[in-house]
Amino acid sequence: MARYTGPSCKLCRREGTKLFLKGVRCNSDKCAFDRRPFIPGEHGTAKRFRKRLSDYGIHLREKQKVRRIYGILERQFRKYFKMAAKKTGITGENLLQFLESRLDNVVFRMGYAPSRKSARQIIRHGHIQVNERKVNIPSFLVKPGDEIVIKEGSRQIGIIQEAMEASTDVAKHEWLEVDKDNFKGKVVSLPKRDQIALDIDERLIVEYYSK
Ligand code: SF4
Repeated sequence: MARYTGPSCKLCRREGTKLFLKGVRCNSDKCAFDRRPFIPGEHGTAKRFRKRLSDYGIHLREKQKVRRIYGILERQFRKYFKMAAKKTGITGENLLQFLESRLDNVVFRMGYAPSRKSARQIIRHGHIQVNERKVNIPSFLVKPGDEIVIKEGSRQIGIIQEAMEASTDVAKHEWLEVDKDNFKGKVVSLPKRDQIALDIDERLIVEYYSK
């Protein structure tokens, strides 16, 4: 599956906000957005602030922001939107639920990877099992009751160990149960909107695709 392979920090600077794509680094003084809070290619204090966006631009930027947070290309993102629109309920909330249900997001949320990008790598390398079966597809959609386990032979991998030590906010994801001592976790339910800690307005995305 095609994926974005360019620099992550450039995406934050393009969106004019921190997207937290690089784990621990994002909260350190090495964060590129904190150091250079202006759009890539635009220099100097006069251009530090975003230009006034058109109505279309506001909708587009919100969609791009969410797409980049989850590391998804346009085609697949649109597919999630179509699935969300078909499902009963609020389309914007459905969309976020699909995005949150991706295995790479769940591994990241459980604290077994420092970022979604790293989670994708861990999954592709075959370190993750879902319901006792190896799953190496980052876009695999989990459902309530699924058990996610780090394979026994993969538990000492540096990136997983470091992520587990650094993750302190697992408790706030009420829809997930995490058992760090046994390197596993369970999906208790799909997240409701107020359980998804993202500063975004998903209604703008729905409007973007509905135009
Ligand atoms: Fe974005 Fe993190 Fe890079 Fe900062 S360090 S610019 S938050 S990806």
